[in-house]
Amino acid sequence: MSEYITIKEQKIPIVKETDVIVIGGGVAGVAAAVAARRNGAKVTLIEKSIVLGGLATLGHVCIYLPIDDGVGHKVYGGLVEELLHTCIKYGYDTLPDAWRDKPESAPIEAGRYQTNFNIPAAILALDELTENEGVEVVFDTVFSEPIMDGKTVKGIVVENKDGRTAYMAKMFVDASGDADLVFRAGAETESSKTIVSHWFHELDFDIMKRGIEKNSMPLATPLRWLGLAPDENNEGKDDLMCEGATNEGVNKYIKLSRHLALDFLKEHQSEDFCMISLPFMPQFRTTRRLVGKDELKFDGEYHIESSVGCVIASLANPAVVYEFPYEGLISDKLSNVLAAGRMTSARGRGWDIMRNIPACVMTGEASGTAAALAVKNGCTLQDLNVKELQDTLEKQGVKLHRKPECEGNINLPKPVTKPVERKEGEPNISMTSMVHFESSDTKISGRH
Ligand SMILES: Cc1cc2nc3c(=O)[nH]c(=O)nc-3n(C[C@H](O)[C@H](O)[C@H](O)COP(=O)(O)OP(=O)(O)OC[C@H]3O[C@@H](n4cnc5c(N)ncnc54)[C@H](O)[C@@H]3O)c2cc1C
Repeated sequence: MSEYITIKEQKIPIVKETDVIVIGGGVAGVAAAVAARRNGAKVTLIEKSIVLGGLATLGHVCIYLPIDDGVGHKVYGGLVEELLHTCIKYGYDTLPDAWRDKPESAPIEAGRYQTNFNIPAAILALDELTENEGVEVVFDTVFSEPIMDGKTVKGIVVENKDGRTAYMAKMFVDASGDADLVFRAGAETESSKTIVSHWFHELDFDIMKRGIEKNSMPLATPLRWLGLAPDENNEGKDDLMCEGATNEGVNKYIKLSRHLALDFLKEHQSEDFCMISLPFMPQFRTTRRLVGKDELKFDGEYHIESSVGCVIASLANPAVVYEFPYEGLISDKLSNVLAAGRMTSARGRGWDIMRNIPACVMTGEASGTAAALAVKNGCTLQDLNVKELQDTLEKQGVKLHRKPECEGNINLPKPVTKPVERKEGEPNISMTSMVHFESSDTKISGRH
């Protein structure tokens, strides 16, 4: 049997010619699409699932991590702040009151500018936002391959109920999380494995009663975390590491994580307990990313001339702030493709910094804005006037550089992260209080 088959030449109908195509409707893709639209571009967003939000909704990662530096200063503005409020517009939140009206700063004791959100409410609010902005969202459609002309992507072939069709555009934002377009178009990428973990929502009468007593919906319908934690030493647990950029890896991840869930269910099955949802997207942290013209630097180099936004380095104390270069969104191998979200250019710990929701939205906004400006100016991404991009981003409320009061934050007082009230055995609802479950079958030695 031959290893390959040859498909005869196919005529593929062109169904769209537009300014900007965004691949992937996670938080980064939504930000990119909205930003490009607001800067005058016609935008089509291609999403393989049937909802927006990606990992933040389908993947049950319904915790919008802090957008402040932990010592009272807002670090992100623009769409990062706007999407946080979009996610809680029609649902519950855990946002401290002091940050509710979007101030520039708040007393340290107020707590972090972060929130949990209700997944269905966020999905519907993201639908509304993209619709109101005039983004054409095409659901249930998977990007398949680029149509190349040298270093330029002229269009993409997608697959959906209509079969194979082509979408043509001047600029592209790859927000697939897995660098599907930049990889297939020939730019350099790096792949990585992810630990197996599984978040889902559960209902337990006892926990629910305590949530009702506290008038707290997130406490009443908490998230449960199964599997490994990224901050543990996971060396030697190769069996529980999967590659998200291969079909084999994706299937391994799905099956392992679902075994964990089933083991848990078998152990907890009772009349007063049920799972109320499972993730509908594999919860990969890092899969494949662009190796860009530049990347996030986090070795003491704080000021970046071509910064398109700030990112906080970690939840640990104190929050250190870095700046992300425009060149981390592009590659010299492609004249009209930008990366956005968890697949932007950052290595090692930097990749972990860039994959949090706020950082993903920040690079989404930067990519979408850059794409629209490049269309307007008729130039390549390499020739884009970065100063013009920065001025535009600043007008949109993006904070390009660290504020002087954040400089030398090594000496700042310790940030206050309010502890989440939780009785022994209760599931976690926040990154700061995790409860893990170990499956006897898969022999995971995570933290309890
Ligand atoms: C277990 C876990 C816990 C986490 N905890 C937190 C947390 O508490 N707080 C936080 O801020 N961050 C957290 N993160 C990180 C964060 O959730 C993600 O990194 C972030 O949401 C990624 O957003 P994105 O838009 O870049 O990518 P994604 O959310 O991955 O979105 C990519 C989108 O592209 C679509 N897509 C993919 N391929 C194609 C294709 N070929 N064609 C068409 N569409 C395609 C997908 O369906 C998806 O909608 C966590 C991540 C994991 C996995």
